[in-house]
Amino acid sequence: MASEHLRKEETLTMRRRLIGQSCRLFYSDDPVKIVRARGQYLFDENDRRYLDCISNVHHVGHCHPSVTKAAAEQMELLNTNTRFLHDNLVLYADRLASTLPERLSVFYFVNSGSEANDLALRLAQQYTQHEDVIVLDHAYHGHLVSLIDISPYKFRKLNGQKEWVHVAPLPDTYRGMYKEDEPNPGQAYANTVHDIIEEVHKKGRKIAAFFAESMPSVGGQIVLPQGYSAKVAKYVRSAGGVFVSDEVQTGFGRVGSHFWAFQLQGADFCPDIVTMGKPMGNGHPIACVATTVEIARAFTANGVEYFNTFGGNPVSCAIGLAVLDVIEKEDLRENAKRVGTRLKDLFTELKTRHKIIGDIRGAGLFIGVELVEDRELRTPATKAAAQVVKRLKVEDRICVSTDGPWESVLKFKPPMCFNMKDAELVVRCIDRILTDMEANVKLEKEDI
Ligand code: PMP
Repeated sequence: MASEHLRKEETLTMRRRLIGQSCRLFYSDDPVKIVRARGQYLFDENDRRYLDCISNVHHVGHCHPSVTKAAAEQMELLNTNTRFLHDNLVLYADRLASTLPERLSVFYFVNSGSEANDLALRLAQQYTQHEDVIVLDHAYHGHLVSLIDISPYKFRKLNGQKEWVHVAPLPDTYRGMYKEDEPNPGQAYANTVHDIIEEVHKKGRKIAAFFAESMPSVGGQIVLPQGYSAKVAKYVRSAGGVFVSDEVQTGFGRVGSHFWAFQLQGADFCPDIVTMGKPMGNGHPIACVATTVEIARAFTANGVEYFNTFGGNPVSCAIGLAVLDVIEKEDLRENAKRVGTRLKDLFTELKTRHKIIGDIRGAGLFIGVELVEDRELRTPATKAAAQVVKRLKVEDRICVSTDGPWESVLKFKPPMCFNMKDAELVVRCIDRILTDMEANVKLEKEDI
């Protein structure tokens, strides 16, 4: 197998020469070259196996045979665009509709999460005839110009904040402005959005949309406090705006108990627009915007066609349908619930023995383990988190990433076929690494 490929060093040299350096690699000092994958496992050029805790895109498992078969069959038959009638488009939209609340019944198909959020922004601005957007601090909604503008994670490092963009505090009850001792953090954080709306109105501006990930990921795998979204939606709607749920990372059953992570906020909350992407095509680039009849009608009323060359093509829709079938047939939501709960329980047990673990949060197979230097001060343990990630790769061939504003959160969002044994292995390896790191710190102290 290895002889069919370039040597790893050659690949790296060519990559350095040919690919923009802002496209970064995992493990940049010794990148991994992956040549094939199956389920939750990646294989390098020497056929060494890595356990993948990162790839939420490969939702039903890397290269799932049902998905690749559906893709190949449809590719052999026909691939056109949405200007021709085709069953796959309507059948897929209908299947997606059955996963969502009834009022989210109109769909636009696109090719990436960024395209979905850009279209959501256009829909919101067209429907409301307002311009301004409220976003959560540290949010990331995509790489297009319009989305850099509404992504504090990016614009803080780049072009600064646009006057039509307003940043609400991240409702993080571990290190945010209201913590777990706040009696009603959902209300307290929703009030911060209410205050922003009042400020915006004082400036004579108007809110088009509130954008939020249903579980802010770059923010550090944050679980929104109960009641937050319903209250924010009420304030935003009474200002004439709409609520956009970015489900690009969290949709399609990842949280286990529900198909969409916004549903964790209870039955009294329903967004006006939902954007989805990453897991939709199990690696094939498909994404989508779901919205209401009223919003779609307003978008049509401007008289301008919406055409997306690749969005919603028969191959993409065949793949999307196959992914939905696998989620159901293999009961992957139930698996995410069971294995995710076990993973969280095991980390909770680990927390009793390792002071560096400050917080464990998440739902289903979307879990964050926050490392801190000091439990009282909650100082982010950025270096230690990087060390854990590196050692897991080198010593155990387990791929884990970090996230959060200080890269201090170990992030688990593996393919949904991740099993109990995988969960136990990961926690056992982290236990060993943390024990070793603690012993080294103790030794260093003794040396002094
Ligand atoms: N929204 C969220 C929450 C994301 O995590 C991402 C990608 N990381 C995007 C939007 C953009 O998606 P894409 O990279 O497919 O354009």
